[in-house]
Amino acid sequence: STVVKPSLLPEVDAFLQRGRLASFVGGKTMGSENDSSIATTDPGSGETLAEVVELTADQVDQAVGIAETAFKKTAWATMPVNERAALLHRLADAVEKRIPIIGQIEAMDAGKVQSQAQGDVRNFVDTIRYFADMAQHINHRTTLAVKGHEAWTVRQPWGACAFIFPWNFPFLLIGWGIAPALAAGNTVVIKPAEDTPLSAIYLAELAKEVGIPDGVINVVTGGGATVGAALSANPRIKRMSFTGSPEVGRLVGEACGRNLVPVKLELGGKGAAVVFDDVDVAQTAQKLAGAITFHTGQVCCDATRWLVHQDIYDDFVNQCVDQLSQVKIGYQLDGQTQMGPVVNAKQRERVLGYLEKGQAEGAQCLLAGGAAEVEGYSGHFVKPALLAGSLDNTAAQEEIFGPVAYLAPFKTESEAIEMANHTNYGLANSVWTTDLTRAARVAESMIAGNSWINAHNVFAHGVPYGGVNLSGMGGGVLSVETLMDYYRSTSVVRPL
Ligand code: NAD
Repeated sequence: STVVKPSLLPEVDAFLQRGRLASFVGGKTMGSENDSSIATTDPGSGETLAEVVELTADQVDQAVGIAETAFKKTAWATMPVNERAALLHRLADAVEKRIPIIGQIEAMDAGKVQSQAQGDVRNFVDTIRYFADMAQHINHRTTLAVKGHEAWTVRQPWGACAFIFPWNFPFLLIGWGIAPALAAGNTVVIKPAEDTPLSAIYLAELAKEVGIPDGVINVVTGGGATVGAALSANPRIKRMSFTGSPEVGRLVGEACGRNLVPVKLELGGKGAAVVFDDVDVAQTAQKLAGAITFHTGQVCCDATRWLVHQDIYDDFVNQCVDQLSQVKIGYQLDGQTQMGPVVNAKQRERVLGYLEKGQAEGAQCLLAGGAAEVEGYSGHFVKPALLAGSLDNTAAQEEIFGPVAYLAPFKTESEAIEMANHTNYGLANSVWTTDLTRAARVAESMIAGNSWINAHNVFAHGVPYGGVNLSGMGGGVLSVETLMDYYRSTSVVRPL
């Protein structure tokens, strides 16, 4: 049978028909000085979507200069906070109107199931509104406990702030990153991942349309070792925020350290799900299978180590195998698809490599996984897999970033906590039990930025999110503290 590919929205088609997309800096396109570009492809078909220019290091420097000038010369940083918030709300409204368009661009570029990509765009809208509103309620005055003095603290934006993003949640993460920076009055330079630059470019163009001053939102495109490295080594950026792997996070941290630029790192994870013997086994298996297949396991906060009480272990494994075998793998725009492709061929090799390596080191294979075929599409599809065994196994220690979970049984609560903490990462874990006292105890004992109870991957604006240890540093995102990071403060004291 012949497969009919879903057709694209006319707006998405027109965007891609441009063929070659430029960076967007200072309110206009910036082509590459040396004419180089990187193709961005559709992970589901392997076909090229567009060529995206790669800037030179000099051009990245120019972009930072333009963001710096916009900070100093446009009204952005000094305008009354309610006016700035109004402009951000206009941006949120414009994005909201285009959820189907941006969602489809994102689905095509990142290989995301379309409904999930739309959810990411919706989340972006919520994030912009959340911080735009919050910035209007910041208290800028302090009292001094010394008689005969007057004191206040004035909070002001820093200047040009830089952001480097990964390919797994391109648009959503842009929101988490830039919303607090912009709400506080900073200007931003965004470096999207080379695999997923399209939604960032679309956003920068849209920001101009709604009247955000030129140079406030800039997008520089290109490779990590080139454009990313040039941006992170720029001494004129006032704050750096990096989301990605620990390996690159170290490099970015080093570069910023040399310039004493404050840096926020949001890195990988190797989360645990601790499942006690009092749960509804079928329901828990279903939820964890849903979590590990969500965006094909390319989720930093995923539960990738499933620690299960020995009394329900066999039953739980059977239910998981059952659930995961039924997952509908397919093209990301196909309405039936539950799990789309991974982002590129390299990522598929990475997933398959860990399956091999894990078993070579002695892990038991509970569900084989491997490459998947989808009729009519030559994309990078993989099947869900389950391994089990020693938690010292490489597959239980390193982030795989695919639909692969690693299981191990436990006997006691303290053993479970120890096993959960047997990792260098510290991003997010979950505990599954009907005993809520125990749940709270375990949730607080697992060393990570986030713990969930009877759920995994639940986010809310106002609930801080971020990792510790190998998973990151710098305070995390999504909270009041995140906004405060984007103000520098000056305390002023005057004897009366
Ligand atoms: P990556 O580290 O390979 O790349 C991230 C970004 O860094 C890309 O834009 C890349 O171009 C850039 N980069 C690469 N080399 C660079 C260099 N030398 N200097 C500066 N920038 C450089 O990560 P990835 O493969 O795109 O994303 C997957 C990783 O991101 C996973 O580890 C995942 O857990 C993590 N992640 C973390 C969070 C979080 O909130 N903690 C969220 C999403 C993803």
